[in-house]
Amino acid sequence: MVTAKPGWIGGLAEWTEGDTAYLSVAFTWKLNDAYQRAVYYRALGYKVRAGGPGIFTRKHFLADVAEIGGDVPDAVSRHNPAATIASRGCPVGCWFCIVPKMEGKEFTLLPEFPVRPILCDNNLSGLPADYQNFIIERYLGEGVPLLDANSGFEPRTFDEDCFVRWSRINKGPWRFAYDDHHERCYVERVMRMLRDVSPRRKRVYVLIGNEPVAACMERIKEVIAWGGEPHVQPYMKLNALERTPFPRFDWNKQLLRDVARWANSPQIWRKTSFDRYRRSVKTAERYDEQQGLFL
Ligand code: SF4
Repeated sequence: MVTAKPGWIGGLAEWTEGDTAYLSVAFTWKLNDAYQRAVYYRALGYKVRAGGPGIFTRKHFLADVAEIGGDVPDAVSRHNPAATIASRGCPVGCWFCIVPKMEGKEFTLLPEFPVRPILCDNNLSGLPADYQNFIIERYLGEGVPLLDANSGFEPRTFDEDCFVRWSRINKGPWRFAYDDHHERCYVERVMRMLRDVSPRRKRVYVLIGNEPVAACMERIKEVIAWGGEPHVQPYMKLNALERTPFPRFDWNKQLLRDVARWANSPQIWRKTSFDRYRRSVKTAERYDEQQGLFL
């Protein structure tokens, strides 16, 4: 039986097949590293092919050292051998998300997907119900545990049927996003549905910096009030070459980082409100690449 390991490679996967070196770039802030690796492989005599979400908004960045694009099946397994994808695309169309731009606003189903413990589909609850059931039956049929529905569920479409359906196999956290105030009633409904699930197993990803400070802080407080633990993600531009938050409205970079550190540490927000929280120079900020969070 395959088991999930903490095996994410960190956003830049590379491998060779025959005379070709492949670079799969998950984040734009890995592009400079990818460029150096492309130069290295070319010096060794390889042809270089590069792709992935990190390339999409800056297609010309590697154009002089690599052939860009084209489909490489199962590239996600090069980022984590326990990961798989059963569909691409997402019809929701959030303005800050690269998925609809890159993979389309209609789902592409991949029924031949290899069954592995980490499932990285963009929006499992938005998939047609019969395809959700198909995925679940494949996990049950192959005896593979679903240890992490990595990109999670979308609150608008996560209803009781969906909860019951995925409860059959989901051994990991229930992941959701609370991206803006329009989602309030949906997220609250989901949190009511999950009231008997432990706080650690309901992860609500709260995007901050995409609305004014007061509106973002309100969403964080609501998640806590509804019995969850917020996982705060500062807004970043889709083409950012550095892993730094991008402030809009009345935010600044430091405030984005401070709120993220406060909200992503239950031992801090349980003891101290943000108004009373003082960033300590002794506690170095840490970025968790797997979760995409500043801690
Ligand atoms: S629901 Fe999720 S995957 Fe779909 S567009 Fe919005 S952020 Fe992207």
